[in-house]
Amino acid sequence: MNSIPIPFAIGETVWFPGYGSREEWETCPDCAGSKVVTLIQGNGSRVDLACASCALGYEPPRGVIARRVSDRRPVPFTCGRVSLDGAKVRYSESPPDATAYASVDAEDLFRDHTACLARCAELNEQYAAEEERRLLANLQHNRRDMAWSARYWGRKVRELERDLALAKARLATSKDHEAVAR
Ligand SMILES: [Zn+2]
Repeated sequence: MNSIPIPFAIGETVWFPGYGSREEWETCPDCAGSKVVTLIQGNGSRVDLACASCALGYEPPRGVIARRVSDRRPVPFTCGRVSLDGAKVRYSESPPDATAYASVDAEDLFRDHTACLARCAELNEQYAAEEERRLLANLQHNRRDMAWSARYWGRKVRELERDLALAKARLATSKDHEAVAR
């Protein structure tokens, strides 16, 4: 039978990458803060659109976007109880007789403060990369939306102009008929 080494003693205080994050506002990468995006269509015509990248829902654009920044830092963690989750050793700060407890991986606990700082930096970087992907996906989605709405409304205007021309022509013909009938 394999035995799993228990890395920390109950009651021992070690370091854990404590949770923390903040929101940072930055100039919208799509409209550069102007709240307007100019779309140049294939035929060279330019359309000014309210920027969709810095608008929240149906609110007007704000010229800035929010980026979530992970700010994990070492915090003291006192091992209260230990449990096994498959091959993983997990610790909780709750006493062994607690009924509800949150546990963390032993791999995320460190005796050495510097090692914990390095783990925090690694986790913060991972989060930053995910946030970058999320913002990029948002940007691409919003650009598709804006291009779609410019095409849609452009087509709508052409259809309405054509209908209007047809309606005017009909009206002109029926007036001619009236004049003939009189
Ligand atoms: Zn914008």
